[in-house]
Amino acid sequence: MGKPTGFIEYQRLSEAYAPVDKRLKNYKEFVVRLTDEQAAIQGARCMDCGVPFCNNGCPVNNIIPDWNDLVYRNHWREAIEVLHSTNNFPEFTGRICPAPCEAACTLNINSDAVGIKSIEHAIIDKAWDEGWVVPQPADVKTGRKVAVVGSGPAGLAAAQQLARAGHEVTVFEKNDRVGGLLRYGIPDFKMEKWLIDRRVEQMQAEGVRFRTGVLVGAEEMPAGIVNDATEVISAEQLQQDFDAVVLTGGAEVPRDLPVPGRELGGVHFALEFLIPQNKQVAGDKPNPISAKGKHVVVIGGGDTGSDCVGTSNRHGAASVTQFELMPMPPVQENKPLTWPYWPTKLRTSSSHEEGCERDFAVATKEFIGKNGKVKALKACRLEWKDGRMVEVPGSEFEIKADLVLFAMGFTNPVGGVLDAFGVAKDARGNASAATDGEGCYATNVPKVFAAGDMRRGQSLVVWAIREGRQCARAVDEYLMGESLLPR
Ligand SMILES: Cc1cc2nc3c(=O)[nH]c(=O)nc-3n(C[C@H](O)[C@H](O)[C@H](O)COP(=O)(O)OP(=O)(O)OC[C@H]3O[C@@H](n4cnc5c(N)ncnc54)[C@H](O)[C@@H]3O)c2cc1C
Ligand code: SF4
Repeated sequence: MGKPTGFIEYQRLSEAYAPVDKRLKNYKEFVVRLTDEQAAIQGARCMDCGVPFCNNGCPVNNIIPDWNDLVYRNHWREAIEVLHSTNNFPEFTGRICPAPCEAACTLNINSDAVGIKSIEHAIIDKAWDEGWVVPQPADVKTGRKVAVVGSGPAGLAAAQQLARAGHEVTVFEKNDRVGGLLRYGIPDFKMEKWLIDRRVEQMQAEGVRFRTGVLVGAEEMPAGIVNDATEVISAEQLQQDFDAVVLTGGAEVPRDLPVPGRELGGVHFALEFLIPQNKQVAGDKPNPISAKGKHVVVIGGGDTGSDCVGTSNRHGAASVTQFELMPMPPVQENKPLTWPYWPTKLRTSSSHEEGCERDFAVATKEFIGKNGKVKALKACRLEWKDGRMVEVPGSEFEIKADLVLFAMGFTNPVGGVLDAFGVAKDARGNASAATDGEGCYATNVPKVFAAGDMRRGQSLVVWAIREGRQCARAVDEYLMGESLLPR
């Protein structure tokens, strides 16, 4: 433990944001990382708890008290080694993780949690600046070949671990760039994409091969799902050419809202708006959907909805409104009731702060159009009655809407790729595979494994990294009979 009295002496210092008027002018990241000195003081706040709840609250089980102490003592190089021992990509999670570790931090019971995420951010960015993050190619090659289908955080984590274990890894990605939702979904203002390119270069130096524009499973993608593939490889071919296959294709099927007027122009799934935006920022053609001067209504209150709000404001929308079906949660959680778990509470993102009207317990009933284009949205208010949300009589209202974005989550993976391999699905349509015990992450099909959103359903980047790492160990064990990769 760095400083026994640190948690009494020092206040939590959160990372600063660039002012709203400046950050709305571009798509660059605007979070200002802590200086080394600030991070050291924040590390000193850690109490090195006998039972570190943060470590258990973190899906990759980051060894948080150890790196907090190392940062406090100015041992940054050791800090990145400890951080990398549980997390392949801290520069991703240090930017976009909602930080369940902080909700679980003991200090959060009656004070402000240790700023764990900001310390993680400081450690990894310093490590890259100092040149400490270098390729780690395996000393011994096994001669075994593994195909990874999908290059999101789950696929990348699995591929890196397997390559470091000496296997010959090829990552197949249907889109034109590597990264999954990190690349095409999460906006640049939350995470700039050169961060992915830098990791991909490291992984290439470790022997990972990337094949973009290749769709695995001979199938068309359903409407609304981006597919840049110019080549298709069948499931049989992959099974023939590789000793193991890891399916990490995400959960790409968006939840629809089939109310009258759904077919009108200007009503889109969130990713139909967000993906072309990321492509535009990367230098491709302009986003065909513009929010400039429009009244935008975002339906759905999670991360995706918030990203639509931030992007619409950067386009110069006339107004941005976000509807949520559920009632407004409490501003402050009841900590004795919720700690150390992730509490339900009102979460105001940096995108909300940039300008957004939020309305809760609202259901959309109809889209009203003119000349084939949406012009307004008819909605009503909801209330809880007998354990159900029901319409409040006489509460119907209309709101101007020239652009409507659906951000109501994702229901399941695209079934075609699972069907092509003959992989059994769970009740929600995800790839069926256990996460514990013998045969974990293995599907019902010999040598085919599944991880990330494709197995667990729509989730978080940190969970995808966990599953990718654990799945890599399971594959290594399957191929070699034993594994030295961490569990
Ligand atoms: C807009 C948005 C914002 C989000 N913001 C956050 C956030 O701030 N923090 C956070 O923690 N999480 C966030 N999430 C969730 C997070 O991005 C996902 O949980 C995570 O990316 C899942 O990782 P994955 O590797 O399992 O799948 P994905 O990232 O979805 O990657 C799957 C990849 O597989 C490819 N693929 C699919 N099928 C095939 C096939 N047949 N052949 C070849 N390639 C295929 C896809 O093209 C895709 O690139 C967000 C999600 C969205 C949509
Ligand atoms: S729970 Fe909080 S105070 Fe305790 S070890 Fe973890 S970060 Fe430090």
